[in-house]
Amino acid sequence: MNYPAEPEFQQAYDELYNSIHDSTLFDKHPEFEKVIPVVSVPERIIQFRVVWEDDQGKLQVNRGYRVQFNSALGPYKGGLRFHPSVNLSILKFLGYEQIFKNALTGLNIGGGKGGADFDPKGKSDAEIRRFCYAFMGELHRHIGADTDVPAGDIGVGGREVGFLFGAYKKYKNTWEGVLTGKGLTWGGSLIRPEATGFGLVYYVEKMIEYATSGKESFKGKRVAISGSGNVAQYAALKVIELGGNVVSMSDSKGALVLVSDFTEGFTPAEIEQIADIKLQHKELASLYPSATLPETKFKYIEDARPWCHVGKVDVALPCATQNEVSGEEAKSLVAAGCKFIAEGSNMGCESDAIEVFEAERMARPNGIWYGPGKAANAGGVAVSGLEMAQNSQRISWTKEEVDQKLKDIMVDCFNTCVETASTYSSEKVDGLPSLVKGANIAGFLKVSAAM
Ligand code: GLU
Repeated sequence: MNYPAEPEFQQAYDELYNSIHDSTLFDKHPEFEKVIPVVSVPERIIQFRVVWEDDQGKLQVNRGYRVQFNSALGPYKGGLRFHPSVNLSILKFLGYEQIFKNALTGLNIGGGKGGADFDPKGKSDAEIRRFCYAFMGELHRHIGADTDVPAGDIGVGGREVGFLFGAYKKYKNTWEGVLTGKGLTWGGSLIRPEATGFGLVYYVEKMIEYATSGKESFKGKRVAISGSGNVAQYAALKVIELGGNVVSMSDSKGALVLVSDFTEGFTPAEIEQIADIKLQHKELASLYPSATLPETKFKYIEDARPWCHVGKVDVALPCATQNEVSGEEAKSLVAAGCKFIAEGSNMGCESDAIEVFEAERMARPNGIWYGPGKAANAGGVAVSGLEMAQNSQRISWTKEEVDQKLKDIMVDCFNTCVETASTYSSEKVDGLPSLVKGANIAGFLKVSAAM
């Protein structure tokens, strides 16, 4: 077939395909085999031009997209990514993962993803606002509370969702829950900003509990985190709350790592300082060294990811972007004693890295255990689903209510992955079940049945 190469989408497709083919799923459900070629083609892709004016009065042009991948379970749902690397391959991989992730939340939401190759770094608020209005100038025709409900992703946070929502309301003259991740005073849900990071930690809490028969928890564990955006920040805060030590954070320019003789990791105040500078689109390096992040406690390694620099580590949480753990880094994490790795980012691990983790899991009953993003980071979109429910009912739940529902969803998601892996496994191991197979098969089963 004469299609352009889509390496990221191919990687996401292969992971799902291999998980399913390396199981007994089609022996038990031969009727679902025909779903794969159908579910792997987006129902619709919208591509459009976004023309906007910068602060110098010059015209700028970007490429905008929305991939409406699958609506078998509900309205298309998934974030918008604004990043110069955005192209159709990346949005198709994200949209594809989103279909099965959303299925794993147990909520009625389909899968989609969108964005633009716009770089918010170094842009003024006014430029970002003009870009968002121009982007929505086209997108509003294709979305709606019961059609397609975008949210944030990399480069799209509360501010951008605000501009986009304001633009939608202006174009359509209607208030509806068409975007999630809204502000609290205009239809947002409590715990939405925290949801991906908190949900990730709730998922890993279950992994630790299961693997150690309830003997261990996050208490006293050394946890390496990459990234310093919304997902990384709230994952770090939850780990600290549960008694773990966060030993690293990073951004695209470098990694900030605890010096080796320090046992106590980042404090909540240090994480908040990082959150503050990230809101201003500044780099971690701009905070180091300082009274907040002194050289006595941290070292900053330019152009590095944390994995090979954290020393002994119990848990790794990639929370930055796709393909941020290589096969070599996976080996180094295993050698450093890491027992749990789970993705806050989408497709955080390269295929080679997943192979290393899965082989280690099978070789030793107590080897490293890998939790894939489509299950482990489903908390974000799950609370988006809860935001949609609150909007439809015109009510707001309390923090405690939303947090409890998020926890329940993550626990259900974990149990589903474990049970599905055991039911459809073709592996002959007594140890830990494959969560990557469990997640892929469970998500696929639900979508297939609906289709
Ligand atoms: N971008 C997030 C994800 O990858 C959230 C999507 C949403 O809330 O719709 O799941």
